[in-house]
Amino acid sequence: MPEEKHRHEPDTESVTLGHDAARHLGSLKPPIYETSTFVFETAEDGKRFFERAYGPAGQGDDGEIGYIYSRLDSPNLAPAEARLAAWEDAEDAAIFASGMGAITTMLLTFLRPGDLVLYSIPTYGGTSTLMKGLLSDFGVVTRPFASTVSIDDLDSDLAGEDDLAMIYVETPANPTNELFDIAMTAELADRHGALLVVDNTFLSPVWQKPLVHGADLSLHSATKYLGGHSDLTAGAVCGGRDDIERIRRTRYEIGTTPSPSTGWLLGRSLETLRLRVTQQTSNATRIAAFLNEHEKVRKVNHLSLLEPGEPGYEIYKRQCLGPGAMIAFEIMGGEPECFDFLDAMKVIRLATSLGGTESLASHPWTMSPPTVPDAEKRSIGVTPGLIRLSVGIEDPADLIIDLDRALSVV
Ligand code: PLP
Repeated sequence: MPEEKHRHEPDTESVTLGHDAARHLGSLKPPIYETSTFVFETAEDGKRFFERAYGPAGQGDDGEIGYIYSRLDSPNLAPAEARLAAWEDAEDAAIFASGMGAITTMLLTFLRPGDLVLYSIPTYGGTSTLMKGLLSDFGVVTRPFASTVSIDDLDSDLAGEDDLAMIYVETPANPTNELFDIAMTAELADRHGALLVVDNTFLSPVWQKPLVHGADLSLHSATKYLGGHSDLTAGAVCGGRDDIERIRRTRYEIGTTPSPSTGWLLGRSLETLRLRVTQQTSNATRIAAFLNEHEKVRKVNHLSLLEPGEPGYEIYKRQCLGPGAMIAFEIMGGEPECFDFLDAMKVIRLATSLGGTESLASHPWTMSPPTVPDAEKRSIGVTPGLIRLSVGIEDPADLIIDLDRALSVV
Protein backbone atom coordinates (compact mmCIF):
# COMPACT_ATOMS: atom_id res chain seq x y z
CA MET A 1 0.00 0.00 0.00
CA PRO A 2 1.22 3.55 -0.67
CA GLU A 3 3.65 5.13 1.73
CA GLU A 4 3.85 8.84 2.45
CA LYS A 5 6.01 10.65 -0.12
CA HIS A 6 9.67 10.12 0.71
CA ARG A 7 11.68 12.75 2.57
CA HIS A 8 15.30 11.68 2.16
CA GLU A 9 17.52 10.55 -0.69
CA PRO A 10 16.55 7.12 -2.06
CA ASP A 11 19.83 5.63 -0.76
CA THR A 12 18.69 6.52 2.76
CA GLU A 13 15.04 5.64 2.28
CA SER A 14 15.66 2.30 0.64
CA VAL A 15 17.25 0.70 3.69
CA THR A 16 14.22 1.22 5.93
CA LEU A 17 11.18 2.48 4.03
CA GLY A 18 7.97 0.43 4.09
CA HIS A 19 8.83 -1.48 7.28
CA ASP A 20 7.84 -0.49 10.82
CA ALA A 21 9.63 -2.77 13.29
CA ALA A 22 7.10 -1.93 16.03
CA ARG A 23 4.40 -3.69 14.02
CA HIS A 24 6.47 -6.85 13.59
CA LEU A 25 7.59 -7.86 17.12
CA GLY A 26 10.53 -5.45 16.84
CA SER A 27 12.02 -7.37 13.92
CA LEU A 28 14.65 -5.08 12.35
CA LYS A 29 14.05 -6.63 8.93
CA PRO A 30 10.65 -7.50 7.44
CA PRO A 31 9.60 -11.07 8.28
CA ILE A 32 8.25 -13.10 5.33
CA TYR A 33 4.49 -13.64 5.53
CA GLU A 34 4.03 -16.90 3.62
CA THR A 35 0.27 -17.02 3.88
CA SER A 36 -2.44 -17.02 1.23
CA THR A 37 -5.06 -15.35 3.42
CA PHE A 38 -5.52 -13.21 6.55
CA VAL A 39 -7.80 -13.75 9.58
CA PHE A 40 -10.23 -10.91 10.32
CA GLU A 41 -10.68 -10.26 14.05
CA THR A 42 -14.34 -9.40 13.50
CA ALA A 43 -16.80 -9.58 10.61
CA GLU A 44 -16.95 -5.79 10.77
CA ASP A 45 -13.18 -5.68 10.03
CA GLY A 46 -13.64 -8.01 7.04
CA LYS A 47 -16.38 -5.76 5.65
CA ARG A 48 -14.27 -2.63 6.15
CA PHE A 49 -11.18 -4.13 4.54
CA PHE A 50 -13.16 -5.22 1.46
CA GLU A 51 -14.84 -1.83 1.17
CA ARG A 52 -11.46 -0.18 1.36
CA ALA A 53 -9.75 -2.50 -1.14
CA TYR A 54 -12.50 -2.24 -3.75
CA GLY A 55 -13.92 1.20 -2.91
CA PRO A 56 -12.77 4.56 -4.26
CA ALA A 57 -8.98 4.88 -4.57
CA GLY A 58 -7.07 6.43 -1.69
CA GLN A 59 -9.10 4.83 1.11
CA GLY A 60 -6.21 2.69 2.27
CA ASP A 61 -4.00 5.53 3.42
CA ASP A 62 -5.05 5.63 7.08
CA GLY A 63 -2.15 3.42 8.21
CA GLU A 64 -4.45 0.59 9.38
CA ILE A 65 -3.23 -2.88 8.44
CA GLY A 66 -6.07 -4.45 6.50
CA TYR A 67 -4.83 -7.37 4.42
CA ILE A 68 -7.42 -9.72 2.94
CA TYR A 69 -5.86 -12.25 0.59
CA SER A 70 -2.34 -12.48 -0.86
CA ARG A 71 -3.46 -12.29 -4.49
CA LEU A 72 -4.59 -8.72 -3.77
CA ASP A 73 -1.80 -7.51 -1.56
CA SER A 74 0.44 -8.81 1.20
CA PRO A 75 2.76 -7.24 3.79
CA ASN A 76 5.90 -8.18 1.88
CA LEU A 77 5.04 -5.98 -1.09
CA ALA A 78 5.01 -2.66 0.81
CA PRO A 79 8.77 -2.25 1.44
CA ALA A 80 9.66 -2.90 -2.22
CA GLU A 81 6.88 -0.62 -3.49
CA ALA A 82 7.76 2.26 -1.17
CA ARG A 83 11.51 1.97 -1.84
CA LEU A 84 11.08 1.82 -5.59
CA ALA A 85 8.78 4.87 -5.51
CA ALA A 86 11.57 6.71 -3.67
CA TRP A 87 14.13 5.65 -6.30
CA GLU A 88 11.91 6.73 -9.20
CA ASP A 89 10.81 10.01 -7.58
CA ALA A 90 7.24 8.69 -7.89
CA GLU A 91 4.22 9.08 -5.64
CA ASP A 92 3.65 5.34 -5.64
CA ALA A 93 4.73 2.03 -7.19
CA ALA A 94 3.15 -1.40 -7.63
CA ILE A 95 5.05 -4.66 -8.06
CA PHE A 96 4.15 -7.77 -10.08
CA ALA A 97 5.16 -11.39 -10.61
CA SER A 98 7.22 -10.52 -13.73
CA GLY A 99 8.09 -7.62 -16.00
CA MET A 100 5.58 -8.89 -18.56
CA GLY A 101 3.02 -9.12 -15.73
CA ALA A 102 3.65 -5.44 -14.97
CA ILE A 103 3.40 -4.44 -18.65
CA THR A 104 0.23 -6.46 -19.30
CA THR A 105 -1.50 -5.22 -16.14
CA MET A 106 -0.65 -1.62 -17.04
CA LEU A 107 -1.85 -2.04 -20.67
CA LEU A 108 -5.13 -3.69 -19.57
CA THR A 109 -5.76 -0.83 -17.15
CA PHE A 110 -5.53 1.98 -19.68
CA LEU A 111 -6.31 0.58 -23.16
CA ARG A 112 -9.61 -0.27 -24.79
CA PRO A 113 -10.47 -1.65 -28.28
CA GLY A 114 -9.93 1.01 -30.97
CA ASP A 115 -7.19 2.81 -29.03
CA LEU A 116 -3.91 3.52 -30.80
CA VAL A 117 -0.53 2.77 -29.17
CA LEU A 118 2.77 3.93 -30.61
CA TYR A 119 5.70 1.82 -29.40
CA SER A 120 9.42 2.32 -29.93
CA ILE A 121 11.60 -0.27 -31.67
CA PRO A 122 13.81 -2.05 -30.92
CA THR A 123 11.97 -3.16 -27.81
CA TYR A 124 12.23 -6.29 -25.68
CA GLY A 125 10.98 -9.25 -27.77
CA GLY A 126 8.25 -10.18 -25.27
CA THR A 127 6.86 -6.64 -25.41
CA SER A 128 6.85 -6.44 -29.21
CA THR A 129 5.25 -9.90 -29.40
CA LEU A 130 2.50 -8.65 -27.08
CA MET A 131 2.05 -5.44 -29.07
CA LYS A 132 1.82 -7.25 -32.41
CA GLY A 133 -0.09 -10.28 -31.14
CA LEU A 134 -2.49 -10.37 -28.20
CA LEU A 135 -2.97 -6.63 -27.91
CA SER A 136 -3.86 -6.36 -31.60
CA ASP A 137 -6.14 -9.42 -31.27
CA PHE A 138 -8.07 -7.48 -28.63
CA GLY A 139 -8.64 -4.60 -31.04
CA VAL A 140 -5.91 -2.21 -29.93
CA VAL A 141 -4.08 -0.66 -32.89
CA THR A 142 -0.32 -0.81 -32.32
CA ARG A 143 2.25 0.98 -34.46
CA PRO A 144 6.06 0.80 -34.08
CA PHE A 145 8.39 3.78 -34.48
CA ALA A 146 12.18 3.95 -34.68
CA SER A 147 14.51 6.53 -33.11
CA THR A 148 15.35 7.81 -36.61
CA VAL A 149 11.82 9.23 -36.95
CA SER A 150 11.57 12.77 -35.59
CA ILE A 151 8.88 13.75 -33.12
CA ASP A 152 7.52 16.24 -35.70
CA ASP A 153 7.17 13.46 -38.28
CA LEU A 154 5.44 11.26 -35.72
CA ASP A 155 3.10 14.14 -34.98
CA SER A 156 2.26 14.76 -38.64
CA ASP A 157 1.60 11.02 -39.12
CA LEU A 158 -0.99 11.37 -36.37
CA ALA A 159 -2.91 14.15 -38.15
CA GLY A 160 -6.60 13.37 -38.07
CA GLU A 161 -6.19 10.51 -35.58
CA ASP A 162 -7.74 11.33 -32.25
CA ASP A 163 -7.46 7.92 -30.64
CA LEU A 164 -3.79 7.94 -29.57
CA ALA A 165 -4.05 6.55 -26.04
CA MET A 166 -0.45 5.69 -25.21
CA ILE A 167 3.14 6.07 -26.31
CA TYR A 168 5.31 3.24 -25.04
CA VAL A 169 9.05 3.81 -25.11
CA GLU A 170 11.90 1.51 -24.09
CA THR A 171 15.05 3.59 -23.59
CA PRO A 172 17.84 2.57 -23.75
CA ALA A 173 16.39 -0.16 -25.93
CA ASN A 174 17.07 -3.84 -25.55
CA PRO A 175 19.43 -5.04 -27.02
CA THR A 176 21.15 -2.17 -28.91
CA ASN A 177 21.12 0.70 -26.35
CA GLU A 178 19.20 2.96 -28.81
CA LEU A 179 18.08 6.13 -27.00
CA PHE A 180 14.70 7.88 -27.27
CA ASP A 181 14.04 11.41 -26.02
CA ILE A 182 11.62 11.14 -23.07
CA ALA A 183 10.91 14.90 -22.73
CA MET A 184 10.13 15.36 -26.44
CA THR A 185 7.97 12.24 -26.51
CA ALA A 186 6.17 13.52 -23.40
CA GLU A 187 5.31 16.74 -25.27
CA LEU A 188 3.85 14.71 -28.13
CA ALA A 189 1.87 12.54 -25.71
CA ASP A 190 0.53 15.67 -23.94
CA ARG A 191 -0.53 17.22 -27.25
CA HIS A 192 -2.69 14.16 -27.92
CA GLY A 193 -3.88 13.59 -24.35
CA ALA A 194 -2.06 10.24 -24.35
CA LEU A 195 -0.09 8.51 -21.59
CA LEU A 196 3.69 8.21 -21.92
CA VAL A 197 5.05 4.96 -20.49
CA VAL A 198 8.81 4.32 -20.30
CA ASP A 199 10.45 0.94 -19.79
CA ASN A 200 13.37 1.92 -17.53
CA THR A 201 14.77 -1.59 -17.10
CA PHE A 202 18.14 -1.02 -18.81
CA LEU A 203 19.41 1.95 -16.77
CA SER A 204 17.45 1.48 -13.52
CA PRO A 205 16.41 4.58 -11.55
CA VAL A 206 20.03 5.02 -10.47
CA TRP A 207 20.82 6.37 -13.96
CA GLN A 208 17.45 7.48 -15.34
CA LYS A 209 14.26 8.84 -13.78
CA PRO A 210 11.68 8.99 -16.58
CA LEU A 211 8.99 10.74 -14.49
CA VAL A 212 11.31 13.72 -13.96
CA HIS A 213 11.43 14.12 -17.78
CA GLY A 214 7.65 14.04 -18.20
CA ALA A 215 6.74 10.34 -18.45
CA ASP A 216 3.50 9.34 -16.74
CA LEU A 217 4.67 5.86 -15.82
CA SER A 218 8.08 4.23 -15.49
CA LEU A 219 8.13 0.46 -15.55
CA HIS A 220 10.63 -2.33 -15.03
CA SER A 221 11.44 -5.91 -15.43
CA ALA A 222 12.44 -6.05 -11.75
CA THR A 223 13.96 -9.43 -12.60
CA LYS A 224 16.94 -7.39 -13.80
CA TYR A 225 18.75 -4.60 -11.88
CA LEU A 226 16.11 -4.07 -9.20
CA GLY A 227 16.25 -7.72 -8.11
CA GLY A 228 19.88 -7.73 -9.15
CA HIS A 229 20.90 -11.30 -8.24
CA SER A 230 19.17 -13.39 -10.97
CA ASP A 231 17.19 -15.19 -8.28
CA LEU A 232 13.69 -13.77 -8.77
CA THR A 233 11.25 -12.75 -11.48
CA ALA A 234 9.26 -9.59 -10.83
CA GLY A 235 8.01 -6.40 -12.46
CA ALA A 236 7.14 -2.89 -11.32
CA VAL A 237 5.24 0.21 -12.43
CA CYS A 238 5.89 3.63 -10.83
CA GLY A 239 3.91 6.84 -11.24
CA GLY A 240 1.21 9.09 -9.80
CA ARG A 241 -0.89 7.81 -6.89
CA ASP A 242 -4.16 7.57 -8.85
CA ASP A 243 -2.67 5.78 -11.87
CA ILE A 244 -0.86 3.28 -9.67
CA GLU A 245 -3.98 2.66 -7.60
CA ARG A 246 -5.90 1.88 -10.83
CA ILE A 247 -3.13 -0.48 -11.94
CA ARG A 248 -3.09 -2.14 -8.51
CA ARG A 249 -6.83 -2.78 -8.80
CA THR A 250 -6.25 -4.53 -12.14
CA ARG A 251 -3.58 -6.60 -10.40
CA TYR A 252 -6.20 -7.61 -7.80
CA GLU A 253 -8.47 -8.79 -10.62
CA ILE A 254 -6.05 -10.65 -12.84
CA GLY A 255 -3.64 -11.94 -10.18
CA THR A 256 -0.29 -10.77 -11.58
CA THR A 257 0.78 -10.30 -7.95
CA PRO A 258 4.25 -11.41 -6.77
CA SER A 259 4.57 -14.00 -4.01
CA PRO A 260 5.44 -12.83 -0.47
CA SER A 261 8.98 -14.17 -0.80
CA THR A 262 9.50 -12.40 -4.14
CA GLY A 263 8.27 -9.12 -2.62
CA TRP A 264 10.61 -9.65 0.32
CA LEU A 265 13.63 -10.39 -1.88
CA LEU A 266 12.94 -7.34 -4.03
CA GLY A 267 12.64 -5.02 -1.00
CA ARG A 268 15.94 -6.42 0.29
CA SER A 269 17.65 -5.98 -3.10
CA LEU A 270 16.65 -2.32 -3.38
CA GLU A 271 18.87 -1.59 -0.36
CA THR A 272 21.97 -2.30 -2.44
CA LEU A 273 20.73 -0.99 -5.80
CA ARG A 274 23.20 1.89 -6.14
CA LEU A 275 26.18 -0.14 -4.91
CA ARG A 276 25.57 -2.89 -7.43
CA VAL A 277 24.68 -0.67 -10.38
CA THR A 278 27.64 1.66 -9.75
CA GLN A 279 30.12 -1.23 -9.74
CA GLN A 280 28.49 -2.85 -12.78
CA THR A 281 28.62 0.46 -14.66
CA SER A 282 32.25 1.13 -13.81
CA ASN A 283 33.15 -2.42 -14.99
CA ALA A 284 31.09 -1.99 -18.17
CA THR A 285 32.77 1.32 -19.00
CA ARG A 286 36.23 -0.32 -18.77
CA ILE A 287 35.06 -3.29 -20.83
CA ALA A 288 33.46 -1.09 -23.50
CA ALA A 289 36.74 0.81 -23.90
CA PHE A 290 38.63 -2.51 -24.19
CA LEU A 291 36.21 -3.94 -26.78
CA ASN A 292 36.26 -0.69 -28.74
CA GLU A 293 40.00 -1.12 -29.33
CA HIS A 294 39.85 -4.86 -30.12
CA GLU A 295 40.68 -5.93 -33.68
CA LYS A 296 38.01 -8.67 -33.68
CA VAL A 297 35.27 -6.20 -32.74
CA ARG A 298 33.52 -4.18 -35.43
CA LYS A 299 31.30 -1.90 -33.33
CA VAL A 300 30.50 -1.32 -29.65
CA ASN A 301 27.29 0.24 -28.34
CA HIS A 302 27.72 1.49 -24.78
CA LEU A 303 26.47 4.87 -23.68
CA SER A 304 29.95 5.78 -22.34
CA LEU A 305 31.24 5.75 -25.94
CA LEU A 306 28.76 8.28 -27.35
CA GLU A 307 30.57 11.26 -28.92
CA PRO A 308 29.26 14.77 -29.56
CA GLY A 309 27.43 14.84 -32.91
CA GLU A 310 26.43 11.17 -32.74
CA PRO A 311 22.73 10.33 -32.61
CA GLY A 312 21.81 9.92 -28.99
CA TYR A 313 24.63 12.02 -27.50
CA GLU A 314 22.45 15.05 -26.65
CA ILE A 315 19.66 12.82 -25.34
CA TYR A 316 22.16 10.99 -23.16
CA LYS A 317 23.47 14.25 -21.68
CA ARG A 318 19.95 15.54 -20.95
CA GLN A 319 18.25 12.43 -19.69
CA CYS A 320 20.74 9.91 -18.30
CA LEU A 321 22.82 10.13 -15.12
CA GLY A 322 25.22 7.35 -16.12
CA PRO A 323 25.87 4.92 -18.99
CA GLY A 324 24.70 1.70 -17.30
CA ALA A 325 26.14 -1.78 -17.65
CA MET A 326 24.59 -3.14 -20.85
CA ILE A 327 26.90 -3.45 -23.87
CA ALA A 328 25.97 -4.57 -27.39
CA PHE A 329 28.92 -5.30 -29.65
CA GLU A 330 29.36 -6.76 -33.08
CA ILE A 331 32.22 -9.16 -33.62
CA MET A 332 33.92 -9.66 -37.00
CA GLY A 333 31.84 -12.46 -38.49
CA GLY A 334 28.33 -13.80 -38.04
CA GLU A 335 26.48 -16.55 -36.21
CA PRO A 336 29.27 -19.23 -36.29
CA GLU A 337 31.90 -16.78 -34.99
CA CYS A 338 29.52 -15.60 -32.24
CA PHE A 339 28.85 -19.19 -31.20
CA ASP A 340 32.62 -19.93 -31.04
CA PHE A 341 33.09 -16.81 -28.93
CA LEU A 342 30.20 -17.62 -26.58
CA ASP A 343 31.27 -21.23 -26.13
CA ALA A 344 34.84 -20.14 -25.27
CA MET A 345 33.88 -17.89 -22.34
CA LYS A 346 34.78 -19.28 -18.91
CA VAL A 347 33.88 -16.54 -16.39
CA ILE A 348 31.03 -14.87 -18.25
CA ARG A 349 27.97 -17.15 -18.48
CA LEU A 350 25.95 -17.82 -21.60
CA ALA A 351 22.37 -17.01 -20.60
CA THR A 352 19.53 -14.70 -21.44
CA SER A 353 18.43 -12.03 -18.89
CA LEU A 354 20.54 -9.23 -17.47
CA GLY A 355 21.20 -6.95 -14.52
CA GLY A 356 22.44 -9.59 -12.07
CA THR A 357 25.66 -9.58 -10.06
CA GLU A 358 27.19 -12.05 -12.56
CA SER A 359 28.12 -11.16 -16.14
CA LEU A 360 25.94 -12.77 -18.81
CA ALA A 361 26.29 -12.81 -22.59
CA SER A 362 23.71 -13.77 -25.19
CA HIS A 363 23.16 -13.77 -28.95
CA PRO A 364 20.04 -11.69 -29.72
CA TRP A 365 19.88 -12.89 -33.36
CA THR A 366 19.09 -16.48 -32.26
CA MET A 367 18.02 -16.00 -28.62
CA SER A 368 14.89 -13.89 -28.90
CA PRO A 369 11.26 -14.76 -29.72
CA PRO A 370 10.93 -16.05 -33.33
CA THR A 371 8.08 -13.57 -33.91
CA VAL A 372 10.58 -10.94 -35.11
CA PRO A 373 11.48 -11.60 -38.80
CA ASP A 374 15.16 -11.44 -39.83
CA ALA A 375 14.66 -8.34 -42.01
CA GLU A 376 13.09 -6.48 -39.08
CA LYS A 377 15.93 -7.56 -36.79
CA ARG A 378 18.52 -6.22 -39.23
CA SER A 379 16.60 -2.94 -39.59
CA ILE A 380 16.86 -2.34 -35.82
CA GLY A 381 20.55 -3.22 -35.62
CA VAL A 382 20.21 -6.84 -34.48
CA THR A 383 22.63 -8.67 -36.78
CA PRO A 384 24.00 -12.26 -36.71
CA GLY A 385 27.31 -10.86 -35.34
CA LEU A 386 25.79 -9.02 -32.35
CA ILE A 387 26.54 -10.05 -28.77
CA ARG A 388 24.66 -8.60 -25.80
CA LEU A 389 26.69 -8.39 -22.61
CA SER A 390 25.26 -7.65 -19.17
CA VAL A 391 28.22 -6.74 -16.99
CA GLY A 392 28.26 -7.89 -13.37
CA ILE A 393 30.15 -6.89 -10.24
CA GLU A 394 33.15 -9.23 -10.74
CA ASP A 395 36.73 -7.97 -10.92
CA PRO A 396 36.84 -6.17 -14.30
CA ALA A 397 40.35 -7.50 -15.08
CA ASP A 398 39.03 -11.08 -14.90
CA LEU A 399 36.18 -10.18 -17.25
CA ILE A 400 38.54 -8.55 -19.75
CA ILE A 401 40.86 -11.60 -19.71
CA ASP A 402 37.83 -13.83 -20.35
CA LEU A 403 36.61 -11.66 -23.25
CA ASP A 404 40.09 -11.47 -24.77
CA ARG A 405 40.48 -15.26 -24.57
CA ALA A 406 37.04 -15.87 -26.12
CA LEU A 407 37.71 -13.33 -28.91
CA SER A 408 41.00 -15.10 -29.70
CA VAL A 409 39.11 -18.19 -30.95
CA VAL A 410 37.05 -16.15 -33.43
N1 PLP B 1 11.48 -5.10 -20.46
C1 PLP B 1 12.76 -5.34 -20.77
C2 PLP B 1 13.62 -4.21 -21.28
C3 PLP B 1 13.30 -6.63 -20.65
O1 PLP B 1 14.60 -6.84 -20.97
C4 PLP B 1 12.46 -7.67 -20.19
C5 PLP B 1 12.98 -9.05 -20.05
O2 PLP B 1 14.10 -9.36 -20.47
C6 PLP B 1 11.12 -7.39 -19.90
C7 PLP B 1 10.67 -6.09 -20.02
C8 PLP B 1 10.19 -8.47 -19.41
O3 PLP B 1 10.47 -8.77 -18.07
P1 PLP B 1 10.30 -10.23 -17.40
O4 PLP B 1 11.21 -11.16 -18.11
O5 PLP B 1 10.65 -9.98 -15.96
O6 PLP B 1 8.86 -10.61 -17.57
